[in-house]
Order: sequence, then structure tokens, then C-alpha cells
Amino acid sequence: MENKVYKSVVIGTGPAGYTAAIYLARASLNPLVIEGPQPGGQLTTTTDVENFPGFPEGIMGPELMDNMRKQAERFGTEFKSGWVTGVDFSKRPFKLQVEGIGEIVTESLIVATGASARYLNIPGEQENLGKGVSACATCDGFFFRGKKIIVIGGGDSAMEEANFLTRFASELTIVHRRDELRASKIMQDRAKDNSKIKWALNRTPLEVVGTGMGIIGLKVKNNETGAEEMIETDGLFVAIGHKPNTDFLKGHVELNDQGYIVVKPGTSETNIPGVFAAGDVHDMKYRQAITAAGSGCQAALDCEKFLEGSMAHDWSSTLSN
Ligand SMILES: Cc1cc2nc3c(=O)[nH]c(=O)nc-3n(C[C@H](O)[C@H](O)[C@H](O)COP(=O)(O)OP(=O)(O)OC[C@H]3O[C@@H](n4cnc5c(N)ncnc54)[C@H](O)[C@@H]3O)c2cc1C
Repeated sequence: MENKVYKSVVIGTGPAGYTAAIYLARASLNPLVIEGPQPGGQLTTTTDVENFPGFPEGIMGPELMDNMRKQAERFGTEFKSGWVTGVDFSKRPFKLQVEGIGEIVTESLIVATGASARYLNIPGEQENLGKGVSACATCDGFFFRGKKIIVIGGGDSAMEEANFLTRFASELTIVHRRDELRASKIMQDRAKDNSKIKWALNRTPLEVVGTGMGIIGLKVKNNETGAEEMIETDGLFVAIGHKPNTDFLKGHVELNDQGYIVVKPGTSETNIPGVFAAGDVHDMKYRQAITAAGSGCQAALDCEKFLEGSMAHDWSSTLSN
């Protein structure tokens, strides 16, 4: 076990975690960042990012994240690789159990562990991420102007993404494995009133068919007849929900019924003083790199304020084991 007490620890190295680290490091708070199972976060799984300000020609996701990491390192951020599996927030300093490291002790914490899109886990899906398959209509819809699009899902977010994507699509098909949709009536009606949307209900997706350069269709099973069918498409948007990465926080900090961290409106503060949340781990609505980065900034500023208010503590202290 380490005997150091950190002033601030950030969990996660997506845009939220890196931005929090940049602000904390520039405020001389010497943050430790635990990078977890996906260094660089979700954007490392995509290619072109065209909507992050400052890059008029766009930038590749992994390159953007690499730049953010370098910027955080430049101001003295310390990085460690590990997976946070448990926390003790019963008193300060807080304790973190980190697989691959051991116990980490800190006066304040920013949780920026993101949320993972749920995927279908069918052949061809992961291989074609960024090459036709996406889980983010806002991010990738623009790449499918004048093209055929499939949206998978039957909930509100699938209806919303489908309606949005009809701005770009030449034709759009919603594929859902049941006969009935889970979406609220108002969202269903909106989609049903949209003349660009076609329906392939009662179809189970079996395989995304690609060429190596892009995708050409989705193989589905018709649940009524049992027959296999091919729906031609250039783009496939999976809209079956997200799962916030908060399993290790259950019972330790307030989460909503979907597992997202609850923050005080307009702040990054959780119900535990000294524990802050940033990025997709608390944001069910926007889920963008720029909003995650912005909330990383907010969390770092809230954290700085919090630490200022408890400055009576000797920051250079160490724990005697
Ligand atoms: C394919 C794809 C394309 C996208 N394209 C765009 C785009 O073009 N523009 C845009 O604005 N947005 C895009 N997004 C959305 C954007 O990536 C997210 O909104 C953003 O990455 C969220 O940032 P974050 O910092 O909150 O979390 P994430 O990026 O999800 O990072 C989470 C971090 O937490 C770590 N972590 C998780 N659990 C633990 C744990 N238990 N212990 C330690 N560490 C942990 C992970 O390793 C990771 O480093 C895209 C998303 C996807 C999936």
C-alpha cells in the first residue's frame, strides 16, 4: 500500500478526466490520474472528430486524446494504470481500491469514468466501428449525408436519433427485435409521422456485413417467418442505451435509477463533500467530448474551492501504516 495522501485524484482519462487534470495541475494540486481499462476513453474508438472546437479540419480521436494527455503531463500530472474496484468515502481522506496498484488515499476525488454505449455484440459490429457503425448520431450523422441509414432500438433515444438522422439520410430504417416499441407515445408518433422513416420490426440483428472499407448491410432474422433477410445500408446506428461506469460506487455515492451519478444542479458536487463527478458518468443528455471536457473543468474548479475551504490540513502529510 502507498503511504502518500494525494490532494486530488481523478479516475478516468477521457476528455473529462484529462481536462480536470489540466486544471488541477495548473492550480498546483499535483493530481494523480488513474487511467483505467480504456486509456484516452471513448474517443480512442473512433476516427474523425469534426465537432471539437479548435480543429477546423477535424482531428482523429486517438490523436485528440493523446494531445490532452500531453497537456496534462506538461503541468505535472501523475498517471497510473489501474482499475478502481472499491471506495471508502466514510471519512476523509478517502480510500480507493485499485486493481493493479493497491490502495490510494486522497483528500478529494473527481470521478470521470464515462459511460459505455451498449452494443449488439454480433459479428461485424465492433470491426466496423467508425467505418459505418456508430453509437452516436450527433457525432457521426453528418458523415452519412445522402446515404442509407439503419437505427437499431425501440426506446426514446432510438426514436430521437432516427428523427435527427433523417436530416442526412436518403432513407432510414428502424430495426427492432420486438413488434412493439418501448418509446413513449409522443416519441413513437413523431417517428411514425416522419415520412423518411421505414420500419423493420420483429427483426433480430444477426450480422453487420462490411467490405473492410465500409458496411453494405445488416443481416436480420424475421422473427415471424424465421427467414434471414438483408437490409442494405451505408450506416448503422446502435441506439440501445448506455451504461455508466459506476458499479464500484454503488452504495457509496448517490446514483440515479440508471446508475448515473447524481450531482447538485449546476455543479459537479455529489452527495459526498469532496467527491465530484465529470463527463458522461453523470450526463445522460449531451454525451459529447466538449461537454465532458467542460464538466471536467467545472469539477476541477469545484474541487479547488473545496480544498481551499479545508486548508487547515497539512497537504504534505503522509499516513503512518
Ligand atoms: C465511437 C464513438 C464516437 C464518438 N464521436 C464523438 C465525436 O465525434 N464528437 C464528440 O463530441 N463526442 C463523440 N463521442 C462521445 C465522446 O466520446 C464522449 O462523450 C466522451 O468521451 C465522454 O468523455 P468522458 O471523459 O466522460 O468519458 P470516457 O471518454 O468514456 O472515458 C472514461 C474513462 O474512465 C476510465 N474508467 C472507467 N471505469 C473505470 C474504473 N473503474 N477505474 C478506472 N478507470 C475507469 C476509462 O478507462 C476511460 O479512460 C463518441 C463516442 C463514441 C463511442
